[in-house]
Amino acid sequence: MTEYGFNTSLLHGVEDDNPYGATQVPIYQSSAFRHENAESLEKIFTNKAMGFSYTRINNPTVEAFEKRITKLEGGIGSVACASGMAALFNAIMNILQSGDEIVAAAGLYGGTVELFEDLTAFGITTRYVRENTPEAYEALITDRTKVIFAETIGNPKLDVTDIAAVAEMAHTHELPFIVDNTTATPYLVKAISLGADVVVNSASKYINGNSDAISGVLTYGGKFKWDAERYPGLAPYRKYGPMAYIAKLRNALFRNTGACLSPQNAFLNNLGLETLGIRMERQCANALELAKFLTGLDAGITVNYPGLSDNPYHELATRQLNGRYGAIVTLRAGSKDRAFRIMNTLKIPYILSNIGDTKTLVIHPASTIAVHLSEEEQVQSGVYEDLIRISVGIEDIEDLKQDFKHALEGEG
Ligand SMILES: *Cc1c(COP(=O)(O)O)cnc(C)c1O
Repeated sequence: MTEYGFNTSLLHGVEDDNPYGATQVPIYQSSAFRHENAESLEKIFTNKAMGFSYTRINNPTVEAFEKRITKLEGGIGSVACASGMAALFNAIMNILQSGDEIVAAAGLYGGTVELFEDLTAFGITTRYVRENTPEAYEALITDRTKVIFAETIGNPKLDVTDIAAVAEMAHTHELPFIVDNTTATPYLVKAISLGADVVVNSASKYINGNSDAISGVLTYGGKFKWDAERYPGLAPYRKYGPMAYIAKLRNALFRNTGACLSPQNAFLNNLGLETLGIRMERQCANALELAKFLTGLDAGITVNYPGLSDNPYHELATRQLNGRYGAIVTLRAGSKDRAFRIMNTLKIPYILSNIGDTKTLVIHPASTIAVHLSEEEQVQSGVYEDLIRISVGIEDIEDLKQDFKHALEGEG
């Protein structure tokens, strides 16, 4: 079969049971699924047959979403979760136990830094690199390290991880590499093809695209060899071969933490996913043009965007990200006061805590999403008192430019 391009394969090529020829997978709004006889349900509970029993474990609408993401990310299986945070928690805790260490990137999403802080109560500690280079991760590896974790494009630091190089380094130490690909999406990079072992997406963002459902999804690449001594929790699942990681999740932590995605939200994600490619193309183009425009204004600001040629990550991003640089731009306004005034003067962007909407969004991270981080953690995450994060939408770029010009010059 010919390989379809990105947009075609978002629309075609995944088979679902479809008795009436519906163009969208229906919402199977059912908590449980009945069976003809007791034997049938026994087979499902003992993993001897595929099928549905209870929506906390799986559901046809949710499975349709998982199948689409697995194909898109080039993995062997996915588990959709109630939120990006639930997906991150499950992806990581599926393989860790008390005493283990995580080596993580510096520019992480604030929620993830807080989650890693929560894990210290369970004996799991995290060491953060200062620079996003393979050598920096390698230097923090100890005999307790069990996983390397990074974001493709850090939110909101916008540092870019060299996925292929970090994966290669991780694998020489027999460590899995988990990548949060939320800000990049598979449109910019298929992290598994570059060597990542597990990819996590907060589907609440670009995958859904319209900000109408909180959700997350993790995808396993199928290649990592889990050493029975270092990852004892996976040992009982070895009979599932390459699916051991996914089988363990679905039969244990995912099911038992009740992290499931609702069928309604899976439906909204399936719908949003169809336009991921065209939205990302437009949003990335808008972001690049806006970043260049803002840089060109003599407005006393500094602009951070990997698409700018003098950005320290420009070359790596160009090589790794499909010729696009994502749709998040940050700017430093000089002071918190001025950042607030600019945000309050802008007419088009919504002031809210989210990214990946069709609409342009702005936020002041230091007083919101990163407010619970210590000052040191803030600097590590690329958050400053005067920083505004812009999630660029699909509006007409001239309107965005004029709106920002007005707000910046009005406050000059
Ligand atoms: C939003 C976000 C998350 C968390 O996802 P939720 O769906 O809000 O739980 C994780 N990582 C990154 C990079 C994000 O932007």
